[in-house]
Amino acid sequence: VVEARKVCKFFGKFQALADVDLKVSKGETIVVCGPSGSGKSTLIRCINALEQHQSGDLVVCGIPLSGTRASIDAVRRRTGMVFQNFNLFPHMTVIENCMIAPMKVKGMSRDEARATAERFLKRVHIPEQADKYPIQLSGGQQQRVAIARALSMSPDVMLFDEPTSALDPEMVREVLDTMVELAQGGATMICVTHEMNFARQVADRVIFMDRGAIIEAGEPEAFFSAPRSERAREFLAQIL
Ligand code: ATP
Ligand code: MG
Repeated sequence: VVEARKVCKFFGKFQALADVDLKVSKGETIVVCGPSGSGKSTLIRCINALEQHQSGDLVVCGIPLSGTRASIDAVRRRTGMVFQNFNLFPHMTVIENCMIAPMKVKGMSRDEARATAERFLKRVHIPEQADKYPIQLSGGQQQRVAIARALSMSPDVMLFDEPTSALDPEMVREVLDTMVELAQGGATMICVTHEMNFARQVADRVIFMDRGAIIEAGEPEAFFSAPRSERAREFLAQIL
């Protein structure tokens, strides 16, 4: 679903991604971790074409990201993104938030989009919130709407960028539970998160980034119990 070879990304002279190699297959759940500024968000944003890389090859959902409008649009249609701060449309109700992209981008009818949205709101366990506005929901509920909204486009891969780090502690669990259900249901997911219990529970691989590069990649147990690099050891000592 994702294939990156020697992907580099610069912001001016600053190198945010350095020769990133990554292969993610259908059904895999990948957890990306690493210190602040290590390039985790940049990697996710390159994968869904919110940012363009400058060199290397990046193929997402079978589409080579070449910087053309057509490739960017095609990749965005097939990837679902969940941000730290939910990014819901405040002037739309929950169900409208979930209906807008399928109608506008996929040309679904209103009825079909509504039925799809209802199905995904059920899946994230908040069907009863459909007609509320985002501001009337808790943070955890808003994030689950954001997940339902992304799912309503039937993406080939779901990308999460620290989906629980803006939540109060008591809301974190409900969002993680939703993500665990997704992963166990066979979704392909790339999750930037420091929730190591989540990683232990469902990740096929944990990727550790530092200064724009992937320093380690391995199964969660191996990574947590015996990180190979000093930088990963330091990082784990801070967060565990
Ligand atoms: P955090 O854990 O704090 O979210 P991160 O690993 O997600 O960090 P990125 O947001 O990917 O890190 O940023 C990587 C580096 O690239 C940082 O040094 C950041 O300052 C820089 N950077 C990111 N976006 C831009 C931008 N639009 N313009 C210039 N520099 C940027
Ligand atoms: Mg980030």
